[in-house]
Amino acid sequence: MKKQRYNAVKGVQDILPPDIYIWQKIEAAAKEIFRVYGFQELRLPIMEPTAIFVRSIGETSDIVEKEMYTFTDKGGRSITLRPEGTASAVRCYVQNHLYNLPSPQKFFYSGPMFRYERPQKGRLRQFYQIGVEAFGVSEPKLDAEIIAMLRVFLERIGLSGLNFEINSIGCEKCRPGYRDALLDFFSSRLDSLCPDCKRRYEQNPLRILDCKVDACIEQRKDAPVVSDFLCDECVSHFSELRSILEMLDVPYVVNPTMVRGLDYYTRTTFEVTSERLGAQNAVAAGGRYDRLVEEFGGPPTPAVGFAVGMERLVALVKDTADSVPSPEVFIATVGKDAAQKALLIAEGFRAKGVWVEVGYEGASLRSQMRRADRFNANYVLILGEDELKRGRIGWKNLKDGSAGEVGIQEVYDFLQKNLNKI
Ligand code: ATP
Ligand code: MG
Repeated sequence: MKKQRYNAVKGVQDILPPDIYIWQKIEAAAKEIFRVYGFQELRLPIMEPTAIFVRSIGETSDIVEKEMYTFTDKGGRSITLRPEGTASAVRCYVQNHLYNLPSPQKFFYSGPMFRYERPQKGRLRQFYQIGVEAFGVSEPKLDAEIIAMLRVFLERIGLSGLNFEINSIGCEKCRPGYRDALLDFFSSRLDSLCPDCKRRYEQNPLRILDCKVDACIEQRKDAPVVSDFLCDECVSHFSELRSILEMLDVPYVVNPTMVRGLDYYTRTTFEVTSERLGAQNAVAAGGRYDRLVEEFGGPPTPAVGFAVGMERLVALVKDTADSVPSPEVFIATVGKDAAQKALLIAEGFRAKGVWVEVGYEGASLRSQMRRADRFNANYVLILGEDELKRGRIGWKNLKDGSAGEVGIQEVYDFLQKNLNKI
């Protein structure tokens, strides 16, 4: 048969060492920080009924209009590879009656999301998000708490100089007035809008504000802003949020034009951006969705959440990362018996939680030493036939150049003591 090389699907990527260590560092930091804020993990399915995304994200959103990986399974059901996590989390919350538990219920999830987008820097077709969703409290305290938590998390992984942009897009009470104002504003500009926005004009004019087409961006420059249409409750919700953020020392700016590309948001929306990322500059985004649980058949339950884009975080952390791990010990050997004995010694170390690499019989001592160097190991142990006969093993500290010999039996204690000093 003819040989064939295969590539991954367009717009998806493998995640390999050394990058994987940055991923692990970010994931570990998220878990640690979310834990102290009381967020528990949810493992949500990657495929979901298509309807949950259409219903929540909205028919006129970019995601539903163009980006979903949707297929019919063998049973004739319409299935979609999740493009985001909130709809799944809400489906799970309602399906499992989590509303019966005391409020707020706070969750996080992580995993791959799928969107059929034009692949480019910062835009993949399979990308990873870590997200949080908190259910059951409408007070802006909860919004502030998760924004503060996001800030702590981003700082913990070494990121600073990020912009926190917040806005309020109102509730079902203030939305109709704003919608009318948008219809009024765009009615004379309809001809200049893209075909999608012409349709959005009919169905959901708010979506025009999130269109990425240049002509539409130009046309909406002087569009009415939602903040001028907020009802009294939304105004006071937003001002309370701002004062809590100030109290918590979260530096933010109000961006009155940020409406976010998903229909389920109400009141608070926010985005975290970095100037270092270029065109796709948002690392995290979120907001409140006070109606969604009810729309999914649950009791009225306010909720708020965010999602961070892992690839964009990794790109930012890469500049600051130091942490490619290296083995503590490398055992170089000469001769077959020594090579076998080395495996046994390595097992002993590994059982104690020490990362050990062993040289292979075929390689010269010199090339094994080079390999230890490349690994950036802390110690090399050297075992030849001669040492083996005497029950001793040579050691060399690659960090400071010191060297010596110890009994094979003592080598564990010896290294344990010395490794702790590194
Ligand atoms: P954008 O405006 O960049 O398209 P979005 O509003 O579509 O973002 P959200 O659905 O809010 O993004 O997703 C939250 C985060 O997930 C984004 O801020 C980004 O970091 C990341 N993200 C979204 N789409 C992609 C993608 N195609 N590839 C990589 N990361 C993505
Ligand atoms: Mg998008």
